[in-house]
Amino acid sequence: MTQYSRSTSPLICRYTPIPVPFLLRRKQISINHKIHPIIMQSSSSSSSSNPTESPKKVIVCGAGVIGACTAYFLAQKGAHVTVVEKSAPACAASGKAGGFLALDWCDNGPLSALARRSFYLHGHLADLLSGPTAYAFRRLETLALTIQEAAPPKQGLKLPEWVDGPATRASSIGTTQTTAQLHPYLFTRKILDTAVEKYGVTVVKGEVKEVRLSEGNVASGVAVDDGEVLLGECVVLAMGPWSAKSTVISGLCRISGLKVHSIVLRPQVPEAIGPQALSLRYKTAEGVSLDDHEVYPRPTGQVVIGFVYEDKESDDGDEESDDDSDGDDDDDSDDDEQVCGG
Ligand SMILES: Cc1cc2nc3c(=O)[nH]c(=O)nc-3n(C[C@H](O)[C@H](O)[C@H](O)COP(=O)(O)OP(=O)(O)OC[C@H]3O[C@@H](n4cnc5c(N)ncnc54)[C@H](O)[C@@H]3O)c2cc1C
Repeated sequence: MTQYSRSTSPLICRYTPIPVPFLLRRKQISINHKIHPIIMQSSSSSSSSNPTESPKKVIVCGAGVIGACTAYFLAQKGAHVTVVEKSAPACAASGKAGGFLALDWCDNGPLSALARRSFYLHGHLADLLSGPTAYAFRRLETLALTIQEAAPPKQGLKLPEWVDGPATRASSIGTTQTTAQLHPYLFTRKILDTAVEKYGVTVVKGEVKEVRLSEGNVASGVAVDDGEVLLGECVVLAMGPWSAKSTVISGLCRISGLKVHSIVLRPQVPEAIGPQALSLRYKTAEGVSLDDHEVYPRPTGQVVIGFVYEDKESDDGDEESDDDSDGDDDDDSDDDEQVCGG
């Protein structure tokens, strides 16, 4: 059993082992320091905004970016929120993502309004939570480039200074008004820390095994791995892209994930890499197109290279979270290289 504590770094909460006697009880995780969640409500909690009602008890399952943000906003509205996380906050996709944000790339699709709202909300949160320093939030330009091996250099292309090689096409696909980025691990930890410190959210470590239903099939809490039952009037399932495999969700609804890989590099001279995100199409000298890549330089001195989604949904994805259950004090957010599933 472990607890979380603030590290000496103001930005990164490290994972610290605690002495054995504390293992006897479920330990509250004291962080002193795009999938929608599924919400199961009890019938009595459906009229929630009446100020005379006592605050709703909400159990949020999963401390990825979705669970952390859900906890933050519900607690801000006055709910009593407990987050249950089986491993560590932001240990899975939310700690490993590119952290790229776009205003209008979902336009004309079902997520358009959500994506637009989310983009503006990120700008607002960055002002509120010191985003640029706390989690490397910044607005940036985004370019689509085609690189072809052995092609003659094309004159007149507007390329960032740090890009060399035979680019045959370059076009702007995002401006500082429409694209931005953040460090997803730091963002998730920051918003969860703020929810704990400012709005009294409780984070506990445990694996949700079952949603308990009371009479009338309404949610009344969750059972966790050691048999303890956490009671709540509302249960939010935010257990990530592979949670359809879990018995908690299977049968309830269909969730599918896409596998994405990323490599995080640390250039020798990070300052030489400018604030431009790249969407790369790469062709061999023979003209064969390889998988597209996305390149996200971060102000933290890393460059994230993402390999764009497989074109079919993966249904065999294993959840590959970085469970530091060995109790070491690694901060995996800062690995120089990592390959992970989402
Ligand atoms: C390489 C990569 C690059 C990406 N790039 C981008 C990008 O640039 N922009 C973008 O918007 N999105 C990007 N994504 C997608 C984005 O990361 C995900 O959509 C997002 O992080 C999902 O968040 P989540 O909270 O739903 O899931 P997760 O981050 O997977 O969190 C789920 C949490 O639930 C916990 N959990 C699971 N089961 C249980 C249980 N039974 N009990 C208790 N806890 C449980 C897990 O331990 C985990 O902490 C990328 C993803 C990957 C992998």
